[in-house]
Amino acid sequence: MRRALLTTFLLLLPLTASAQNLPSKQVTNQPAAQNAAHAPKLVEPQLHVSRSGNAVRPRVALTFDACMGQADERILSTLVRERIPATIFVTARWLKKNPQSVAIFLNNLDLFELENHGQNHVPAVDVPVLIYGIAAAGSPEAVRQEVAGGADAMLAAGLAPPRWFRGSTAKYDPSAIRQIREMGYRIAGYSLNGDGGSLLGATVTEKRIAAAKDGDVVLAHINQPTHAAGEGVARALLALKRRGVEFVRLSDVDGMGDDNTTQ
Ligand SMILES: [Zn+2]
Repeated sequence: MRRALLTTFLLLLPLTASAQNLPSKQVTNQPAAQNAAHAPKLVEPQLHVSRSGNAVRPRVALTFDACMGQADERILSTLVRERIPATIFVTARWLKKNPQSVAIFLNNLDLFELENHGQNHVPAVDVPVLIYGIAAAGSPEAVRQEVAGGADAMLAAGLAPPRWFRGSTAKYDPSAIRQIREMGYRIAGYSLNGDGGSLLGATVTEKRIAAAKDGDVVLAHINQPTHAAGEGVARALLALKRRGVEFVRLSDVDGMGDDNTTQ
């Protein structure tokens, strides 16, 4: 009973906490009431990778968002030490602040695929709307700038041209999806919200991620070193490895996304 109450509390946390990271899927509620009259239809696409079909070696794609702020060494050092491949979505803002972590990525390109999380971490929605209190890009021009500005910063940091984009909040409207696709990107949804926008506790986070199934795309954050969730992420990485999981990056295998994000 206590555990159920605790879980409920934790699931509600993102409603009240800062929207700095991605809030969890469970709380993808309607846009703010004042926007209801002109609210665009927002989607939060799912993404899976092709399954291994091997019960003892399930295939999982770990994806981490580096929204802004710092690098979580608990996660980064575990990935490097355990040689666990992952896809990292970086913003221009985060790249600028974390050159030492960028150097680690560049020194381990056999592990890390770096992809585009935008320039300023504004949602890739082409009409003015608030999402979790964050103002969306608001126009097609601003969506283009968010995507292109993220890619430009990656190239300037010495990273390869990105092929996947994931916007802040992981929400989009269909016209923005079309626009980003026309810019040459696939859009990275996810199937398992690992850390509730980095706001969940360590144990809950560990359990969620450690339970990943064949074909899952896990979303977690690598930019909140002071949050408990990162400790759970690091422990879950070890648990997945012990289970014999085949770790893949998004470019390694076919991805199947909802809402015309990959096809
Ligand atoms: Zn983010």
